[in-house]
Amino acid sequence: MKAALVGTDGTLLHEARRATGRERGADAVVETILAFAADLRAHGEEHLGESAVAAGVAVPGIVDAEKGIAVYAANLGWRDVPLRALLGERLGVPVALGHDVRTGGLAEGRIGAGRGSDRFLFVPLGTGIAGAIGIAGAIEAGAHGDAGEIGHIVVRPDGPDCSCGQRGCLETLASAAAVTRAWAAASGDPAADAADCAKAVESGDPAAVRVWQDAVDALAAGLVTALTLLDPGTLIIGGGLAEAGETLFTPLRAAVEERITFQKLPHIVPAALGDTAGCLGAGLLAWDLLSTEVSA
Ligand SMILES: [Zn+2]
Repeated sequence: MKAALVGTDGTLLHEARRATGRERGADAVVETILAFAADLRAHGEEHLGESAVAAGVAVPGIVDAEKGIAVYAANLGWRDVPLRALLGERLGVPVALGHDVRTGGLAEGRIGAGRGSDRFLFVPLGTGIAGAIGIAGAIEAGAHGDAGEIGHIVVRPDGPDCSCGQRGCLETLASAAAVTRAWAAASGDPAADAADCAKAVESGDPAAVRVWQDAVDALAAGLVTALTLLDPGTLIIGGGLAEAGETLFTPLRAAVEERITFQKLPHIVPAALGDTAGCLGAGLLAWDLLSTEVSA
């Protein structure tokens, strides 16, 4: 878990990390979150001379931000945790709850790689592929909280089975995990991962170039579908695979450009905030809560 004290303009005042300890079960994880937040506030009081005036928390899985409920997270094993109410009771301040990717996207859009962009799409390429649709300083959650799930756009109908039940979803072909799988098979080294594949591409290994280009082509196909619908000004790519830098971005820009016809090419840029995006975004959600309360 990453946590931070965040100033009004999104300044990172203090950052801390703590083990999630998911092996101890869902209730223990929730208690760790509450205790971590209380300790963070105490740190602010002691070292910054100020107490936090609101809190934001971003969690994975299915999140009902309106009701403040962490509905489901397979990796944390929780169901229907009233996290906003629990944290509000513990801290005695207003609390905002958000979805991890959308919250990270909010930070990237407002104070990171998409700064100044009115319409952006944030796509982290990690174990899976998710997305956050940024419109006018906020993230579009959709009618049911499921907007932006670009990883489950089908790009190859005859492709590999996906955990969602479809076949050939973008994340089965272009996530860091997918590239790891493909490169472990192609290189014959079961321990080889996506970062090793990127290195092999850089040294001109033709088998690595094939694996890499395959993923880039799938990614470009999925992104073109998304930008045809959304027409973003900036496309922010994050997650583990984006750490390959220009090894990813140069062929990706070319592959997107090759596919578009009438669509406008967005700026395709790497994420800027790394793994602090989520907690910075949670801080922004907290500040938004206060400005909404004042204006209401
Ligand atoms: Zn899927």
